[in-house]
Amino acid sequence: MKFPDFVRRNIPLAGYSTLGVGGPADYFADIKRIETDGSESEDYHIREAKATFFVSVCEAHKFAKENGLDIFVLGRGSNVMFADSGFRGLVLHMGMSRVHFQNDKLIAEAGALVSDLVTLYENGCGGLECFAGLPGTVGGAIYGNAGCFGGQFWDIVEKIMFFDGEYFRTLKKRPEMFGYRWSIFKDNPGWIIVEARLKFKLKDSGQVTKETKRIRNLRQSKQPKSPSVGCIFKNPAESTLSAGLLIDLCGLKGKRIGSAMISHEHANFFVNLGGAKARDFIELIKIAKSHVLKKFGILLKEEIILVGDF
Ligand SMILES: Cc1cc2nc3c(=O)[nH]c(=O)nc-3n(C[C@H](O)[C@H](O)[C@H](O)COP(=O)(O)OP(=O)(O)OC[C@H]3O[C@@H](n4cnc5c(N)ncnc54)[C@H](O)[C@@H]3O)c2cc1C
Repeated sequence: MKFPDFVRRNIPLAGYSTLGVGGPADYFADIKRIETDGSESEDYHIREAKATFFVSVCEAHKFAKENGLDIFVLGRGSNVMFADSGFRGLVLHMGMSRVHFQNDKLIAEAGALVSDLVTLYENGCGGLECFAGLPGTVGGAIYGNAGCFGGQFWDIVEKIMFFDGEYFRTLKKRPEMFGYRWSIFKDNPGWIIVEARLKFKLKDSGQVTKETKRIRNLRQSKQPKSPSVGCIFKNPAESTLSAGLLIDLCGLKGKRIGSAMISHEHANFFVNLGGAKARDFIELIKIAKSHVLKKFGILLKEEIILVGDF
């Protein structure tokens, strides 16, 4: 099989998820920005033709299609759990991460870390404070409409550039395109987000700095320090109680299978105490679901994305 030079074989995935579990990917492509003439252009179509990450996305996609491989698009891996047996397809790791200002907007490539956007407060760039400490990328935050401390990521989205498998297209935000931990990208698994235009509010940088620190401290005081993928379950629509509280009320904090444990700090965070396996987390997920169903009649639904054979 002939494959592009940026595609590698048998790459262990544990290091590409904040949970630190998972076997190898058969194929793995790092999509990076390499500057070429014209890639700085403000004209989207000129950049599309010139910036090599656009070319890499197309080439990797073509390679997968020609060889009948499934594709999994990976950001920071802070919301995914890979199977112990790994993934029998091509992982597309979105590493392009340039962020720049265009007039009063922010243009961020899909692999840019949300935490890097937040630090733009030095420029008086407000409206992003609630995302302080969110470990994912712009692509991941758009895909799952990440939300925290009173905000959701689509609040700041204006326009998204994505690859639909054949063409690069743009999408202007409309209300029906997003919801609680959901976006239109979840209904279109083949779409690959490459870039987004985001809005911000010009604010006093001292004020933004203060609020960003407050949120970061709040997050640190509530969340465990051991490796995790954030909240395992969505908050159920049929209850005013959060998924974490429901699990806590079942007395499951500290419940352990192997080295996977339901956190003492936050019952919706399951942590890796070192050397845990994906199957241990699956067992814990089953336990939490069955206890909450029995006690409250509520079926919890996973927020995290499971990749591979479970
Ligand atoms: C300590 C901790 C705290 C967290 N706190 C929060 C929180 O407060 N609120 C919250 O909502 N989440 C939280 N999370 C979860 C996670 O950080 C977010 O869901 C984040 O937005 C995921 O981004 P990512 O880049 O890591 O995505 P990944 O985990 O890499 O991927 C998640 C999904 O997005 C898809 N995806 C990623 N990039 C693209 C792309 N370019 N195009 C198409 N699809 C793509 C993937 O295919 C996958 O299905 C937390 C996680 C941790 C570890």
